[in-house]
Amino acid sequence: MNFADSEIVASILNDNGFGATRNFEEADLVLINTCSIREKAEQNVRQRLALFRQEKRSRPGMLIGVLGCMAERLKSKLLEEEKLVDLVIGPDAYRSLPELIREAGTGQKAVNVMLSREETYADISPVRLDSNGVTAFVSITRGCNNMCSFCVVPFTRGRERSRDAGSIVRECRDLFQQGFREVTLLGQNVDSYYWVDETPSPESSGGQAAVVTFAKLLEQVALIDPSLRVRFSTSHPKDITDEVLYTMARHENICKYIHLPLQSGSSRVLQLMNRTYTREWYLAKVDRILEILPDCGLSADIIAGFCTETEEDHQETLSLMRLARYDMSYMFFYSERPGTLAARRYRDDVPEDVKKRRLDEIVRQQNKLSLESNRKDLGKTFTVLIEGDSKKSSDDWRGRNSQNKVVVFPKAGRSLQKGDYVRVHVKDCTGATLLGDII
Ligand code: SAH
Ligand code: SF4
Repeated sequence: MNFADSEIVASILNDNGFGATRNFEEADLVLINTCSIREKAEQNVRQRLALFRQEKRSRPGMLIGVLGCMAERLKSKLLEEEKLVDLVIGPDAYRSLPELIREAGTGQKAVNVMLSREETYADISPVRLDSNGVTAFVSITRGCNNMCSFCVVPFTRGRERSRDAGSIVRECRDLFQQGFREVTLLGQNVDSYYWVDETPSPESSGGQAAVVTFAKLLEQVALIDPSLRVRFSTSHPKDITDEVLYTMARHENICKYIHLPLQSGSSRVLQLMNRTYTREWYLAKVDRILEILPDCGLSADIIAGFCTETEEDHQETLSLMRLARYDMSYMFFYSERPGTLAARRYRDDVPEDVKKRRLDEIVRQQNKLSLESNRKDLGKTFTVLIEGDSKKSSDDWRGRNSQNKVVVFPKAGRSLQKGDYVRVHVKDCTGATLLGDII
């Protein structure tokens, strides 16, 4: 999501006469887009700022700005804590960047951390940064109305709002015309996407205002072209509907992969987290997904060591992972975030070494599950979208299948290029990659 936001910022700056450079020693303005989700993310930003300190000493005219969630969370306190920072700009205030840069250029510190109920940057065409020319992110909602007790996002990104459906479809169509072959629709909770189209075309709705749900949006994007792949992230288990699953089943080009964050396998902990589902409810959702989409890839986010988590709770997480048989997971130990419900109400009482040991067990379990999942694919043939050279060798291509698994295979003298689809027969694997040959 930050990546997509940086592309919006780059677009706003481009329109105001700024260009990008890969060399920070020649930059007049350095903007760091930040994440507050865990303490470690913020520490990384502080380390990056320390790198710029030296440079700023020799070039006092260089402006340094902090964007995003950390700017929103710390506001002008950040200016006191990090003296080299000239600008602090929250995630809904990027349109004011040119003005703030002018202000900072006169030697004043510039801050805008106003959150908005409307801003979606719908009309801004993002400048693709560091793009492979094949896959792109497209933001569909901003903010979050859920109140998971561990999470800082509702505080740093504000209320949830959906972006104009027409502008999303236009952006995806433009990407396709530029040669992109995959879009990932992004939101904290994509299933709560909701847009009322006040000016629908007469053929689509008889001139009536039309409600665009996430399932409808997904379909509209899928219909742009059968060779444009569509992915999305993130689905909250409480909100993903059968309608979305059936839409996925109907369209070959909507990838059969769902990222369905779990957080914990214990109903008691889930309740403290305010996730609004139980272990059983989550497992029933997984069954439903596999009933409608039998070959669907599944991944999760998991937090180890949330407040009051016992050894039994932890075992329940491990057992749920085995039942859901995730193809992959993003795994974290709990990091208390100031201002959240959990920080205010619960004691962060699982000792750090216990959190880390539990996380390690979760990671090891996932590695086993990923390897098992990949072994099941041996002998199968998948359609793979080529994204570029493999990391290890320019003799091999790297791409992904519909289930979001990375597939690596020899170029074998064929004249293919990034953005092409190929059929690949899988003959070997590691826990992270399928290895095969073009057929
Ligand atoms: N909107 C998404 C999650 C976005 S944050 C959803 O609800 O699924 C991405 C992940 O970071 C979360 O799913 C959670 O696993 C993790 N996370 C969030 N806050 C955290 C915290 N305080 N400590 C550790 N991990 C956290
Ligand atoms: Fe955070 Fe929960 Fe919203 Fe995800 S759904 S961003 S975890 S509050």
